[in-house]
This record gives sequence, structure tokens and C-alpha cells, in this order.
Amino acid sequence: MTENETLRLFSEAILHSPVAVALSDAKGKFLFTNDRFTQLTGYGSNDLRGRKQRHQDAFALFPLMETAFHTCLVQQQEMQLHRKNGESCWVFLTARPLPDSSGALTHVLLFLEDVSTRKEYEQLAEHMAFYDALTDLPNRVLFHGRLKMALEHARQSAGKLAVILMDLDRFKVVNDTLGHEAGDHLIQQVAGRLQAAFPEKILVARMGGDEFVLLMPGILHFQEAFRQVQSLMNLFHEPFQCLGQELHITVGLGIALFPEDGEDPMSLLKNADSALYEAKSIGGGQYKFYTTRLNATASAQLSLETALRHALDEEQFQLAYQPQVDIRTGQILGVEALVRWRHPDQGLLAPDRFIALAEETGLIVPMGKWILRTACRQAVVWQKLHPFLRMAVNLSVRQFQEPELIESVLGICQETGLDPKRLELELTESMLANEATASLALQWLSKKGISLALDDFGTGYSSLSYLKHYPIRTLKIDRSFIRDCLTNSDDAAIVTTIISMAHHMGMAVVAEGVELEGQLQLLRMAGCDVYQGFLFSTPLPAVEMTRLLKETRFGPWKRAGMRPSFTPDRPDSLTG
Ligand code: C2E
Ligand code: CA
Ligand code: CA
Repeated sequence: MTENETLRLFSEAILHSPVAVALSDAKGKFLFTNDRFTQLTGYGSNDLRGRKQRHQDAFALFPLMETAFHTCLVQQQEMQLHRKNGESCWVFLTARPLPDSSGALTHVLLFLEDVSTRKEYEQLAEHMAFYDALTDLPNRVLFHGRLKMALEHARQSAGKLAVILMDLDRFKVVNDTLGHEAGDHLIQQVAGRLQAAFPEKILVARMGGDEFVLLMPGILHFQEAFRQVQSLMNLFHEPFQCLGQELHITVGLGIALFPEDGEDPMSLLKNADSALYEAKSIGGGQYKFYTTRLNATASAQLSLETALRHALDEEQFQLAYQPQVDIRTGQILGVEALVRWRHPDQGLLAPDRFIALAEETGLIVPMGKWILRTACRQAVVWQKLHPFLRMAVNLSVRQFQEPELIESVLGICQETGLDPKRLELELTESMLANEATASLALQWLSKKGISLALDDFGTGYSSLSYLKHYPIRTLKIDRSFIRDCLTNSDDAAIVTTIISMAHHMGMAVVAEGVELEGQLQLLRMAGCDVYQGFLFSTPLPAVEMTRLLKETRFGPWKRAGMRPSFTPDRPDSLTG
């Protein structure tokens, strides 16, 4: 055979080889591609004239070709490739550097094998190792892995997490009477409902049979876990449609918390399981926390919540009013409205017993409207005694997030006839966190004449200079600084600094919780504008406040042994 004939046969062999072959020069310009290469990638050598054209598809080949050039070594790698038509495939790529007759590297030879089918099987096998075949939820193995990771994270951030085991009640009856097909169908529907109900950060997994498990990381306190338990229970209010049958299903839940109930995956799961066992033993549709004490807390919380839902309709809320007094003249400038709940069994409850709950349940929104309306109505009545009296009303974060906040506030001013100039809204620093939305809302309110006060100043993170962005008229120095300002020189310094800086920025300062004459003196020396506290008066019911306003109508009022009268006793908090 002549040399030419041999070469021709070789090139025929390569051209029709079942392995994809291509030849590129040092610049990445393809000189040759065989049939299989074109079939696999969609590209012929005409398409790949130079790397400059940077087909997204050819990209994956270039880095390895380059390495082959630089290292003079054969490179091999499995990689995902985009075909010319956009589809992707997996290939096993070999890049072999080719020297010319003088030994200099001038070309790279590429071999591509299609490994997509094997890759798909591998991925399927991997999926099957970690996901449940019936529901496609994560399985026990994946759950364990995630729990381990979540525990590490919780330990580092000193956070909490909850493990909730869930088991369908009487699932065996469904299986025995309707058959396994119906049972499977039910399990799938339960899985679907669980997955749709919870955000991604909550992991829902199937442990096997009719047992599911939820992992809730980043829990701040027990109430949060409890709230999720309730939403989990609520998911089963609606019946399931199962092969033409309507099935009413209840579930049992067992809850274990980190760190209280276990430090590692095994003990948390074991304890959640024993809590579940206990829940199941009392009957259907029950939950149990592993820590027995929490069960009592949960049921007290639940009954408080139920009662709170009725409190508004049954007119159990009342407002107390605490005077805000001009430090220089001793005259009442305004009052702060403070809510109380006359609980049918527990007597008068202070806001810290129910405001957080009202926020969590969203009840704060209608309740906040009631508070604002009542306070505004009252302010209008008191205007006859005190034409310039200002009414300060606390706003909760949740209310602040309502899109209709501004409309609702202005609507209430209009409906009650209160001049917005006589209304002050007390905000907290957390509301300012989202600068864009906060600033817009506050500009609007302030444009309408409503004054804005920043409550509990000094307890949050915001610096005074940060407040420049907002139209805030008044700073209320938090009670804790006033409480200790006579005994702690740091607190005294903080108080005087806040006052002088606030004045510098054109804001007025209210001192909260003034109980002692000495505190008042210190504040007066520091140039504080207004004070509020037991020294002058506790929060009062409207009738008593009316009397006080009448007495002080023509000037400053001398205290005459005012006793606390509308400040609820503070029983131990429910939780804890
Ligand atoms: P706050 O806005 O800082 O209200 C002042 C709290 O300090 C009131 O407690 C008041 O009774 C108490 N206080 C006033 N003077 C003194 C004093 O001289 N010494 C001491 N030790 N305490 C004094 P209250 O009424 O229990 O309210 C607690 C918190 O509940 C309020 O703190 C406020 O954050 C919230 N809150 C009260 N009413 C409402 C409301 O209508 N809506 C909203 N969203 N939150 C409210
Ligand atoms: Ca306040
Ligand atoms: Ca305050």
C-alpha cells in the first residue's frame, strides 16, 4: 500500500469512527471534526473556526484543551456540554496534545464519548437514595443529613430548632378497608399538602409508612414552634379526596426542640417519637411536646389566643392614658394611649401579655384600628378642655407593614374629626429597618400633619445620625436609661448626650418612666423637654384622665399623692 493510500484509509477510519474526534490548532481553531462529533455536538469544523466566536456550546471544551497545551499532558474529564440546538448532554472528554515533527506542540486532538445515559442512571440512583419513591419527598437518609447540618448551624448561632414527627391517625383502617392503592394515594396527597404549606426553609420528609417529619430551623422561641404545630394541624381540617371517597384525616404530632430535648439527631428523633407516642395514646388529632412543661404552656397559649379572638367583638379592650408633661412649665401637653385587656377570667391584662400574640396572629391589625379610633375619638372630646392636647398612639410593626396604613390612619382622623396635627404615632426602630418603604410612609404621614415619635430610643441599633433620613419629631428615651440614671453614670451620660444631640437635630425629647424627683431634676438640667412617668401619674382610665384635665385646665398641676390605678398587676409570664 502506498503511503497516500494508508493515509486515506486512516482518515476514513477516523471520519467514521463511533467516537467523536476533533482536531484543533494552538489557537483553538478547529481544523477537523468527524461525523460523530457533529452528530453529538451539532457543530462541524466550519462552526468552530476560532475561539473568538465563543459558542456557548463549545465553551466547555476550551479550558481542558488549553490545559492540555500548557501542561503537555493528556487531560480527561466528564463534563456537561450544550449542543448547538441548546440541549445538553454529558460527555467524557479526552484532550491529547500533539507535537509536530520537530517536537513543538501545535495541535490538540479531542475525543468525546457520550455518557448521558449512564449519567441519567447515576442521577436517578442518587435521587432514589435520598428521595421517597411514592411522594418524591426527601427520605429518612436525607433528613438525617440535613438535621445534622442544621444542628451544627444552630449550635454556632446559638439558635433553636424543632423536629416534628407526624403520624396519620387510623391509617391502617384506610389501607385495610379501601386497599393499598387508596392508602398510597392518600399518602401522596398528604405529602402534597405539606409541601405546599411550608416555606422552603422548613424541610418536610417522609420517614416511611404514614410517618412524616418536619425540620424547622431558625426558631427564636417556643411560640414559633407552637405556631407551626397549629398550622400543621389546620392542614387537616379539609377532607382528602381519595379514589372517589372523601376522607377526614387527623394526625398525631410529637415535637422535640433543640437544645432542650436533645443535642444530636438520634436523641431528638427518639424524643420526638416518644412525644408522638404519648400524643397517639390520648386519641386522634393530638400533639405533645417532649418537654412536659411546654404542653401546659401551649394549651394556656391556645386558650389565650382563643379568648383574644373574641376580645374585640366583646369589647374587652380598654385604653389607659398617661400624661406627658412639659418639664419647664409642668403643664400637660399630651397623653399616650396604652391598651389593656379586661380578660373574662384573668382580670386586667397588661399589653406585654397579649401584644406579641396579637401580632403573631394578625389580630393586631383590627385591634390597632380600634385603639386608634378610640384614642382619636377621646382626643376630640378632650379638646374642649385642652384645645392643644396631643394624643400619642403606639403602632406595632405589623400595622406598619399594612399597605393601607396611611389610608386607615387618615380615614380615622376624618371619621372622628381629629385634626391630624393633634395625633402622634409612636414607632419603634425595627420599623425603620427597611429604609425605602419606611421613609416613604413616614413622609406621607408627616406631610399630612401627623407627628412621629420614636419609642424606646436607645434599645435598638439606630444611631442618631441615621434618623436624619426620617421626619421624626420626637425621641422617647427608653425607660431603662431613666431608671438607672441616678445610680449609673454611663446611663446619665447617655441621657444627656441623647438630649443634646436630638436638640441639635431639631427633635424634641420625651423621657419615659420618670419615677423620682431626682430623675426629673437631672432631666431638667439636661434640657429635656417632656417627661412621662409614675412621678406625675400612672396611666389612667378615661374618666380619671378627664378629671385630671379639668383640674389642670388653668395651669400646672401639683401632685397630690396620685396612686397607681390603671396599671395592671404583672403576673408571671405564661411562657418560661
Ligand atoms: P411603651 O410604649 O414604652 O409604654 C410605656 C410603658 O411604661 C407603659 O406600660 C406604662 O404603663 C409604663 N410606664 C409609664 N410610666 C412608668 C414609670 O414611671 N415606671 C414604670 N416602671 N413604668 C412606667 P404598658 O402600658 O404596660 O405598656 C407596655 C408596652 O406595650 C408599651 O410600652 C408598648 O410598647 C405596648 N403597648 C401598649 N399599648 C399599646 C397599643 O395600644 N398598641 C401597641 N401596638 N402597643 C402597645
Ligand atoms: Ca409608647
Ligand atoms: Ca416606650
